[in-house]
Amino acid sequence: MEKLGLRTTGDLLRHYPRRYSDPGTLTDLSGLAVGEHVTVMAEVRQATVRTMRNRSGAMLQGVVTDGARTLHLTFFGKGPRALTHHEQKLRPGRVGLFTGVVGAYQGTLQLTHPDYKIIGVDVDDEAEALAEAGRPIPIYPASASLASWRIQASVRTVLDPLAEADVPDPVPAGLRSERGLVTLHQALKDVHEPFTDADWRRGRDRLRYEEAFVLQAALARRRAEAARQHATARPPRADGLLADFDARLPFTLTAGQRAVGEELAVELARPRPMQRLLQGEVGSGKTVVALRAMLQVVDAGGQAALLAPTEVLAAQHVRTLRALLGPLAEAGFLGGADDGTRVALLTGSQGAAARRESLLDAASGRAGIVVGTHALLSETVQFADLGLVVVDEQHRFGVEQRDTLRAKASTTPHLLVMTATPIPRTVAMTVFGDLETSTLTEVPAGRSGVTTVVVPAENAAWMTRTWQRVREEVEGGHRAYVVCPRIDPDEPQDDGADLLAVDVVGAADESGRGSAARNAPEARRPLRAVLEVAAELRALPALAGVEIGVLHGRMAPDDKERVMADLAAGRVQVLVSTTVIEVGVDVPEATAMVVLDADRFGLSQLHQLRGRVGRGTAPGLCLLVSGAGGAGRPAAGASPAAVRLQTLAETTDGFALASVDLELRREGDVLGAAQSGGISSLRLLRVTRDADVIAQARTDATAVVEADPALDGIPALRAAIDQQLAGEREEFLDRT
Ligand code: ADP
Ligand code: MG
Repeated sequence: MEKLGLRTTGDLLRHYPRRYSDPGTLTDLSGLAVGEHVTVMAEVRQATVRTMRNRSGAMLQGVVTDGARTLHLTFFGKGPRALTHHEQKLRPGRVGLFTGVVGAYQGTLQLTHPDYKIIGVDVDDEAEALAEAGRPIPIYPASASLASWRIQASVRTVLDPLAEADVPDPVPAGLRSERGLVTLHQALKDVHEPFTDADWRRGRDRLRYEEAFVLQAALARRRAEAARQHATARPPRADGLLADFDARLPFTLTAGQRAVGEELAVELARPRPMQRLLQGEVGSGKTVVALRAMLQVVDAGGQAALLAPTEVLAAQHVRTLRALLGPLAEAGFLGGADDGTRVALLTGSQGAAARRESLLDAASGRAGIVVGTHALLSETVQFADLGLVVVDEQHRFGVEQRDTLRAKASTTPHLLVMTATPIPRTVAMTVFGDLETSTLTEVPAGRSGVTTVVVPAENAAWMTRTWQRVREEVEGGHRAYVVCPRIDPDEPQDDGADLLAVDVVGAADESGRGSAARNAPEARRPLRAVLEVAAELRALPALAGVEIGVLHGRMAPDDKERVMADLAAGRVQVLVSTTVIEVGVDVPEATAMVVLDADRFGLSQLHQLRGRVGRGTAPGLCLLVSGAGGAGRPAAGASPAAVRLQTLAETTDGFALASVDLELRREGDVLGAAQSGGISSLRLLRVTRDADVIAQARTDATAVVEADPALDGIPALRAAIDQQLAGEREEFLDRT
């Protein structure tokens, strides 16, 4: 049980059956695969004991069937007598559950020494046998050493003696009757010991609602707590840095940027902490919106911290800020404006002198804006008056990290979180449910957009054309990215690999069997690596004379910084890199992107990647190179991976893609990637499917928390939330 993660009776009761077998329906045996641990319902056709010719001992050979196919059962014993008890139970015509690891012997599938349970036989009396024969049979997530019905028996041992009063219910009685839900005690009986299919459905629906409700109650409490806190109001000033910044902006803001900007300006001016999520289409210009909010806070005498997920991105933000602010960002320097401020950079790898100066700038308040990576979270970082925390490209930061940074202010600072990619509404409600949401849907006018084409890797002519196209872009004065899933051909693991891991599981279906299993030969195909590809491209006649640079997570920060600067300046024309450029990198001259082994990336990730090109006025081109079966061909002959890429080629709407992506992945991966809290407690809830339940639970939970903020009247709900937070904290500790 420990191996299944079952340590307490509570764990056991929350170990829900994965499915239910109807005693009248046999399992289709055609789906069995060698090596799999299975539990099947089948009918015994025969069972014969034989003594063995070559060895001492006896063997029982049984055959079970689903009516069409057969599966063999093999038992060995010291002598025939040792096997008679099996022979007596395995009578032809009887139906039972059989469990074990599927093996193959001389071309037939078999289970060796399977654990089994004959329906209606292993019970005490006939009445019970009859009753049992008509009930749905719960099939639990089991293991080779612990059969489903042994789990079932253990659950009964725990559940049967319990009375209603022994099972405190986190869902208040009033809500239960309003929503037509049974009590927790009843729901547990329904899912573990159903008499009918309607029973387990009723129980499951109630437990699913409970998961959504507890999660939303936790989020509602976070919102309520934040709303009770005091924050320093940072009202806008007509003649400050923000006004100067706006005057220097080389473009006009989009309608969306203006609208969201006003929303933020109002909230920052209130003495309550803003708690807002800014999500938007890739390239919609979230950064500018955040910068303007930061400047409003600086104008009001406070400081702003901008937390970026990578050093490349942190450095880019500092460059952007300094460029846009000009002399306004050079306070205290010769030529700096009198009323200016400073933009400080804090990263984990900067030199001691630079770090000391940045720390001093932050602590003294001389720097109005401090940009950094995780290093900003370190204890030595102090602010004079931190008024706003901006978390860029949130998916790499957890809730706890947000809190760490906010704790650096004497009064709760305002908070703005930005997501890297558009996210579906249900995910926003679940993962970022403690935040209000603003959305930027339009991208600035004048962009020609990105054309996406799928290129079959095995087609030499297309590949030649691909590199020619890269050359043409470079000759037109533009830059190109070539993205690979790995760094080094000799090493299997690298910073690209975690993305792969996500994607391999990501394409997994409900049964939990992922694309890795189904496309085994494809999974073993060696993946293209940055260092190898860079060497190949340098030797390629089509790219002769083109400056090719490399960028990956294992390079020294200075080198990364230099390559990015070279790329922006045109000293590097083609950048071969891992997905380190995925998040937020902004080089407007970049027009072409070639993604190698594109099928190994998630849809949202590819959308994010291609968002790196076509940022200027010249049109972007994204070439997705893939060896996935049927890539570049019409859907009929294409593998699922190829179809996925085609979907991307045909869709430019990031919100639509995010929904497709979500359907293709298992929840855990999506939410895990978003580093949400309490996800380990989501067993039945699916954010793709249960949008209605989530929305309803959110309304209900908000009302409950409003009426009873401390949840004094519902101790079971408070306990459930605490338990969830404890799990969240554990997860956080694991990650760090
Ligand atoms: P994202 O929302 O993906 O983070 P960015 O903030 O990086 O997008 O902005 C993408 C690019 O668009 C940047 O080069 C930025 O300077 C530019 N940009 C932002 N707003 C506008 C606008 N209103 N008009 C023209 N260009 C803009
Ligand atoms: Mg960005």
